[in-house]
Amino acid sequence: MSDSLPYIVLVGRPNVGKSTLFNRLIRSNRAITHDRPGVTRDRMEGLVRRKGLPAFGIVDTGGITLDAHAAVAEGPAGIRGFERDILAQAEAALAGAAAAAFVVDGRDGLLPLDEYLAAHVRRMGLPTLCVVNKVDGMEREDEQMAEFHRLGFPLLPVSAEHGYNISALCEDLAALLPKNAAAEPPAPPALRLAMLGRPNAGKSSLINALAGEERMIVSDVAGTTRDSVDVRFCRDGRDYVFVDTAGVRRRTRITDSVEKFSVNAAIKSSTKADVTLLTLDAVQGVSQQDKRLMDMLHTRKTPFMILINKCDLAPREALATLKKNVADTLAFCGHVPILTVSALTGAGLKKILPLARKIHEECQARIPTGQLNRAMEEVLARHQPPVVKRVRAKFFYLTQAETAPPTFVFFVSDAERVPESYSRYLERALRKLFGISHAPMRIHLRSSHKKRS
Ligand code: GDP
Repeated sequence: MSDSLPYIVLVGRPNVGKSTLFNRLIRSNRAITHDRPGVTRDRMEGLVRRKGLPAFGIVDTGGITLDAHAAVAEGPAGIRGFERDILAQAEAALAGAAAAAFVVDGRDGLLPLDEYLAAHVRRMGLPTLCVVNKVDGMEREDEQMAEFHRLGFPLLPVSAEHGYNISALCEDLAALLPKNAAAEPPAPPALRLAMLGRPNAGKSSLINALAGEERMIVSDVAGTTRDSVDVRFCRDGRDYVFVDTAGVRRRTRITDSVEKFSVNAAIKSSTKADVTLLTLDAVQGVSQQDKRLMDMLHTRKTPFMILINKCDLAPREALATLKKNVADTLAFCGHVPILTVSALTGAGLKKILPLARKIHEECQARIPTGQLNRAMEEVLARHQPPVVKRVRAKFFYLTQAETAPPTFVFFVSDAERVPESYSRYLERALRKLFGISHAPMRIHLRSSHKKRS
């Protein structure tokens, strides 16, 4: 194992799937078996490399000798005989480790040997993630997870065999590493932007003003239609692309400012982008089509911002009224930022690209499971869920299912008893705790009837 890389140890009783997990984590990287004298026999070491994450080592201590004992792994009686082996191996490996992944079997449930080993791992005082393996179907996931909360580690359900949640596992494990061990992240790809708005709102002017002189127009000349014209440029060392600007530039009649634009075509462009910019005309105000577009962007959980352009032409009060009007239209998605800008004078333009980057970063946020569950405790304590039909819903567990947009799943005793207002409170609280202020977010509540402790 490279001395410079931190490593994480897989710990767990035999047959929970440590070696399958180990192989999943190292992928094509070669595993090396070390034959060391003394207690550390059969120690497998490998490298975990994932895009966007610091590389780290992984050590599997569950060796061949232990598998031979697997048949007696059931029940407390089975502990005796090889507990010393497991512990000695695990402790030797844990001594130099940055963190531990405590692996359990979601199908077997929590066995006495798990609790026994967990107590030892806990005593080592390392950041530890409890990996619940063999969780193969979403429908039973919450049930399978329930009893492992007792161990007191943050939990992550995975299936080593089916590859379920393996990238989340890599991210959660990387999050356990000491911060200074994190390697330089690779250069980020160009941020893709879509510019929407009705004709004459000032879309081309804004693109020109933002992209400046050094922009590169990349048009799809090979095809007969010149539908996809991208404008690439670099600002403050970061790359950006305005996608699909053909629609933006295809201006028919300058005077025809009420000309309808196709909402569907606009939505299509926004799906090609990381962040969408919807430009309104400060003089014309919000049209029906603008409203429809905002509504659709919201429903589709598109990351977007509103630009009120031509603010140089509108008197201050008119601008304030318009801004309020737009905010009212957006009442259903208060996270969407509204900027007043002018492509002509340059007012407000400096804020656009950094804000677009921030929205995109927020969309990619991945909160480690441990942090999420501590946050959940805190949020519930501050405001407990209301009593509905004489019962208060119990919250068991919180996990992040997706990024882009960040999607959080609460496992609760009875989702029916959590009113809409309370899930809105949960969303606001999570936004605040994790600094997700402008990205869209999804909150799901899933009923989990079988909570044992
Ligand atoms: P597009 O159809 O949305 O691409 O709109 P254009 O960028 O072609 O702009 C339409 C008209 O509005 C042009 O005459 C621009 O010069 C003008 N315009 C664009 N932005 C501004 C602005 O911020 N202030 C003023 N006063 N005029 C603007």
